[in-house]
Amino acid sequence: MRKNIVAGNWKMNNNTTQTKALINDLKGALEKVSANCRVLISPTSINLTSAVEATKGSVIEVSAQNMHQATSGAYTGEISANMLQDVGVKTVILGHSERRTFFGEDDTMLTEKVTTALENNLEIIFCFGELLEDRKSDNHFNVVESQLKNVVLALNASAWKNIVLAYEPVWAIGTGETASPEQAQEMHAFIRGLVEATYGKILANNVSILYGGSVKPANAQEIFSKEDVDGGLIGGASLNATDFTGIITAF
Ligand code: PEP
Repeated sequence: MRKNIVAGNWKMNNNTTQTKALINDLKGALEKVSANCRVLISPTSINLTSAVEATKGSVIEVSAQNMHQATSGAYTGEISANMLQDVGVKTVILGHSERRTFFGEDDTMLTEKVTTALENNLEIIFCFGELLEDRKSDNHFNVVESQLKNVVLALNASAWKNIVLAYEPVWAIGTGETASPEQAQEMHAFIRGLVEATYGKILANNVSILYGGSVKPANAQEIFSKEDVDGGLIGGASLNATDFTGIITAF
C-alpha cells in the first residue's frame, strides 16, 4: 500500500550552519510526536553531506533538489546521480516548476534525468502542475496529462517502485494561495486514473501522490484528508521546524 510522505524543499536557503541547526530543531520537534509518514528534507547540494550526517539515527531522510542527466563529464557546476548516491542521498526531486521555468527543463531533458536517476537506483519525486492561465482556460487536466505522458507514463512498470508524484499547481507555489482540498482531490484522482489506465489498478493504488503549493500547518490536515492526497511537498513552511512538524503531524 502506498506511503504517506511529507517532503521539504529548502530551495536556495540555509548555509551549512543553518542546515545543521534546522535539522537539530526538527529532530527535537519530531521526538515529541509520532510521524505517521515518511519525512524528507531537501537541502542545497553543497549541504547534502552535512545533512546526511546530521540526520543519522533519525526518521528524517535527505533528498536532493536536482541532478544532471549525464553520468559524468564536462558539465561545469553540475552534480551527477552517482555523486548523490555516494554521499548517501537516495531520493531526488526532478521537474520542479522553478527548474522548468528558470533553467529550461523540458519534457525531453526530464526524461533523460528520470532515466539516469532510475539507472542509479535513486527514488524520484517527480513534480508537475499547470500555470494559472492553464487553470483559468480550463486546460489544467490536459497540461498535467501531457507532462506525465511525456515523461513518467512512458516508463516501464518496474520503474514505478521508485517514483513518487508531486502535483504542484504553479499558481499555488510560494504564493500563499492553495488549491482547495476539493481541487487537489479532483486532480489527484485524475492523475491516479492516468496511472491506472497505463499500468493497472494495483500499481496505481501503490503510487504516492503528493500535493505542493502553500501547504501550512493550518491547511495540511484538510488537504491530506482527501483520499488521493498522500502527503505534501513543502517549500516555505519546511524552513521552520515547528511549522514543518505541524504539517507532518497532520497525518
Ligand atoms: C514548492 O516549492 O515545491 C512549494 C510547494 O513551495 P511552497 O510550499 O512555499 O508553496
